Amino acid sequence: MSVLSKEAGGDFNVGCIGKDVENYLGNKRRKLFEEGDAQRLYAYFFDRQCKEPGFVYSMQVDENGCMGSCFWVDARSRASYQYFGDVVTFDATYLTNIYKMPFVPFSGVNHHHQTIMFGCALLVNETAESYVWLLRTWQEAMLGRAPSTIITDDDKAMAKAIGEVLPNTTHRLCLWHILQKFPEHLAYVYNRFPDFQKDFHHCIHNTITIDEFEHEWSVILVKYELGDNTWLQNLYNRREKWVPAYLRSTFCAGMSTTQRSESMNKFFKDYVRSSTMVSDFVHQYEKALDARYFKEKEKDVRTKSTCAILKTCYKIEEEASIVYTRKSFTIFQDELFNSQRYNSTKFSNEGESKTYRVVPHGKETPLYHVTLESGGDKVTCTCHMFEFMGILCRHILCVLGKKSKLDCLSQHHILERWTINAKSRPIIDIPILEGHVTPQDDLAMRKNSLMMQFYVIAELGTKSRKKLNHLSLALDKVHNELLLMEDDDNIEESVGPVGRESTYESISQRSQVVSNFSQTIQDPPRVPTKGRPKSLRAKNPKEMQPTKKRRCSVCKNEGHARNNCPLVRDIGHTVQVDSTNLDS
Ligand SMILES: [Zn+2]
Ligand SMILES: [Zn+2]
Repeated sequence: MSVLSKEAGGDFNVGCIGKDVENYLGNKRRKLFEEGDAQRLYAYFFDRQCKEPGFVYSMQVDENGCMGSCFWVDARSRASYQYFGDVVTFDATYLTNIYKMPFVPFSGVNHHHQTIMFGCALLVNETAESYVWLLRTWQEAMLGRAPSTIITDDDKAMAKAIGEVLPNTTHRLCLWHILQKFPEHLAYVYNRFPDFQKDFHHCIHNTITIDEFEHEWSVILVKYELGDNTWLQNLYNRREKWVPAYLRSTFCAGMSTTQRSESMNKFFKDYVRSSTMVSDFVHQYEKALDARYFKEKEKDVRTKSTCAILKTCYKIEEEASIVYTRKSFTIFQDELFNSQRYNSTKFSNEGESKTYRVVPHGKETPLYHVTLESGGDKVTCTCHMFEFMGILCRHILCVLGKKSKLDCLSQHHILERWTINAKSRPIIDIPILEGHVTPQDDLAMRKNSLMMQFYVIAELGTKSRKKLNHLSLALDKVHNELLLMEDDDNIEESVGPVGRESTYESISQRSQVVSNFSQTIQDPPRVPTKGRPKSLRAKNPKEMQPTKKRRCSVCKNEGHARNNCPLVRDIGHTVQVDSTNLDS
């Protein structure tokens, strides 16, 4: 049973579903908690939606009146998804609340290549059914738009749910998590054959085509006698989901691991502890989101108020510096600058398309093939960086340079999601109140908007000594005036007509729903914890704490634990290498 709640006028009427819950819970009344954690969580969701119509949540209640899984997403995250929802990662973590309910955030990247959130959930368990419920609810909140790629850990229940709910989405498994399992499962191979690691690394990271990968893989199976290893065979059967050679032309916005969502998990852990009540957790989550949102605004201002430093004389560079966000431009600029290290020669001329061989100056390898269709709009490279992350690679830029085509940036080669104007398209289906003030955080919000204003003024004020003096004097004057003023005016009075209207609406909406939904929801079973529970899932080396084990369970050597095992660390390290840069 689900209490799915949407903005007034949406498909789901809060009041109606509230009544449903009442009927359902009617005879369970005595068993319910008063003022419990779950009830406060529900109150938070309800209150938040009244103030922010674009906020959406859903809460399950089981037959005992206990809170089940819940999902929530704010209006800003829903809007962000409409711009940047092409690639999504999601992952579960356990360290966030007293019930040990796994916390599952959806995340992605914005135009500044920052991690952003697309909603999150607390699940009762990690079964396929729970994930199906979550994905369906999430899709509904996201206006039914499925991502083109979703990156998750290697988890059977997740995979099943994704196949069912998102059949047209490419499901990619986190490469880091897969590779991390190798030293554990194949420790004897690592110990017996010193070359295995090098061969294996090359097979995974440096093969560009599927044929190359298949060839090297079969050589490895024979050379290291791994032909009858069932664990490896199982992993190989799922190779389309994790081997880079299979995924080079799948758009991933530059991501190959769930590390972004894991870094988010770590980020949230700064805000919460394992003893946190869910009703406190949602407040902390809201604060964390505000902090993220402010960082995005900061980058917006920075891109718009400063000029990029150019490194070449190509006109295309100047144009890119105007169109792209600063971070996107830096990536493009690096490719453009490095394109000068390559040589291209015409290789074949088949009908409408021309193919070029591209190699570093004075070398024969690595060799890339760049194909240019007539007109020059469609261009591909065997490194597939453009398909993978949407920014032209150095090899294509080398060919364009040779053909004197570096004068202008073709619209076909710019992804809107990486540009300054990525968020300019209005989204009418999600109500976002501009200048919206949440009472519990209004101080922080006011401060944030002032900081934004100061930032722009400070940028301007430092342009010359004259401007600096002028600004400094003006600030002194305002400062003294502020000190003489009293704090007696009520900030709520200054909320504009939009705010007032919504307050009126929310009160009428609230009274209607409260009359229907007068029950309390019971807390989920509490799991008492002694400090932080151990995560059931593998963690990044950064998160790992050294343990006191005397013998390593991975390489069987003494003197270190598996957390510090050089084998594991090396695997972790190799993935950190930018997978788009095949030269390294
Ligand atoms: Zn390339
Ligand atoms: Zn070890």
